[in-house]
Amino acid sequence: TSFAHFGFDEQLMHQIRKSEYTQPTPIQCQGVPIALSGRDMIGIAKTGSGKTAAFIWPMLVHIMDQKELEPGEGPIAVIVCPTRELCQQIHAECKRFGKVYSLRSVAVYGGGSMWEQAKALQEGAEIVVCTPGRLIDHVKKKATSLQRVTYLVFDEADRMFDMGFEYQVRSIASHVRPDRQTLLFSATFRKKIERLARDILVDPIRVVQ
Ligand code: AMP
Repeated sequence: TSFAHFGFDEQLMHQIRKSEYTQPTPIQCQGVPIALSGRDMIGIAKTGSGKTAAFIWPMLVHIMDQKELEPGEGPIAVIVCPTRELCQQIHAECKRFGKVYSLRSVAVYGGGSMWEQAKALQEGAEIVVCTPGRLIDHVKKKATSLQRVTYLVFDEADRMFDMGFEYQVRSIASHVRPDRQTLLFSATFRKKIERLARDILVDPIRVVQ
């Protein structure tokens, strides 16, 4: 597979070329077409596999379609991950690729300023990258709403479970409308992750790095 197979438009292709990626990684070859098709997906992949781009590129296509269908406020895509560092990394990739469509990304994570994050959320963003507890705090305080979210990603789900975030992960899934697309990434596929997948995904396709 080459990048041309994904059917991305020239703007996104230009940005991918600028990143000097010569060819898609295995998780991208398998995952991107599935994510673009609108299906739910389980990605068993580790850091370094290129999994971030595998969910970000289809996310951008989804947002551009959805924005037209449903103008309004609040994020269209939410990416939930375990740590501040990962949040910042994913947010940086969202900005790098999202800028080709003038899409805005906000990162909200534990340890950062609640007030500054709330302000950024209220200024508006199509993409929110977050740690689980902090997103819930902002939703409770009505700094943002999950009403318009139709693309939901849980990254490093096994690590989130190890850190004790299972309740928060499930809570977020239950607060996003059921007609969403959900992608779940995990380095391992243990019983607990399997159970989560069964509860929050609909007829998912599983991809192994
Ligand atoms: P990730 O596994 O998403 O954390 O990505 C690991 C690193 O690989 C990041 O620095 C990406 O910028 C880079 N990367 C993602 N996709 C590709 C690709 N197709 N070719 C080369 N590098 C890539």
